[in-house]
Amino acid sequence: MVRSRNDGNALEPWSDPAAEPYVRISGVTKRFGDFAAVNDVSLDIYKGEIFCLLGGSGCGKSTLLRMLAGFETPSAGSVVLDAQDLAAIPPYQRPVNMMFQSYALFPHMTVEKNIAFGLEQEHLPKAQIAERVSQMLSIVRLTEYAKRRPHQLSGGQKQRVALARALVKRPKLLLLDEPLGALDRKLREHTQFELINIQQQLGVTFIVVTHDQEEAMTLASRIGVMNHGQIVQIGTPSQIYEAPNSKFVADFIGSVNLFEGRLIEAQEGQARIQCDELGGVVHVDYAVDASPGQSVCAAIRPERIHLLREPPEHTGENCVRGVVREIAYMGDMSIYLVQADGGKVVRVTQPNIARVTHGQRIEWDEQVYLTWRAGSPVVLTR
Ligand code: ATP
Repeated sequence: MVRSRNDGNALEPWSDPAAEPYVRISGVTKRFGDFAAVNDVSLDIYKGEIFCLLGGSGCGKSTLLRMLAGFETPSAGSVVLDAQDLAAIPPYQRPVNMMFQSYALFPHMTVEKNIAFGLEQEHLPKAQIAERVSQMLSIVRLTEYAKRRPHQLSGGQKQRVALARALVKRPKLLLLDEPLGALDRKLREHTQFELINIQQQLGVTFIVVTHDQEEAMTLASRIGVMNHGQIVQIGTPSQIYEAPNSKFVADFIGSVNLFEGRLIEAQEGQARIQCDELGGVVHVDYAVDASPGQSVCAAIRPERIHLLREPPEHTGENCVRGVVREIAYMGDMSIYLVQADGGKVVRVTQPNIARVTHGQRIEWDEQVYLTWRAGSPVVLTR
């Protein structure tokens, strides 16, 4: 099982060649007429993961999830769960459960009846049902609400009933389609952590579909970014954020500055990119898989750019001059839009560390210098 998400010490199963995947999706395609909603997706997921399928509307993530649940049949490819091929198993017999965004609770049943429903359908002994329902109520902290009906609950409580109902049958795999989409922002944040706690207590493998990149970053052990029916990158949240493999992923996850340019030098462990739209040279202190003369893009996160009023000591590279065009105060940080000498508008974020800055704050129309470390840009070739 996957250990704590951020301990960083243990070899994670996905980086251990000897680890056996729990869910193996191989070459799965789903066509609707001529259109491939899911196009040759292969993906290994390990026991105890919260794996997030992240992508924009229509990229095929729900279709992929529905194939795992058995609501859609793949046009090609296979899905294996815990060494069992799911192809011949109808949805209701799969050791898989799905939690829908709408929660689909039975309005006329109490919370405990809603949770017990699936177990009653399976004709489990009454005492066993009572014990498992009571255990689930306690895990989702709804013991006191057992006798209420769904309309007497808040959005977050309904979400927890739906989760309890999906987990009480102890599925090997729980599929969650936009599980927090119906909650407001604050509650969603709180519920994300709660969901992680519950998942870790039970050790059930979760596959979560979301279009919300912040949600994926918070919940996921790993993220699969989807675009046009394909998985375009798989990685931990930090790998996806720090080392995107394309402009699409860099731009989709968080905000980023994409500077188009031409590689002018690529020697061992170093590279330089001429960025005319920026009016300067971007230098990186690592090897780049591209040749001089090639068009490339330097992607730099707004929080990795420093804003200075005075020119730094070394202004040759990784430093451009510009003028502040916009400032947005966000409370914890401020966003600056700075027009560089080359014309490109650069987004910079700075934390607001002090409450009052006594005239230190950089203002609109001020001339500033933008600098960044040689390790900060990611050089992208596609
Ligand atoms: P969203 O976040 O908007 O739900 P999604 O990534 O989950 O998007 P899917 O629901 O998987 O997207 O749909 C992928 C594509 O397949 C869409 O273009 C959709 O119109 C198409 N599609 C889905 N189901 C069908 C169907 N039954 N018949 C024809 N086309 C379909």
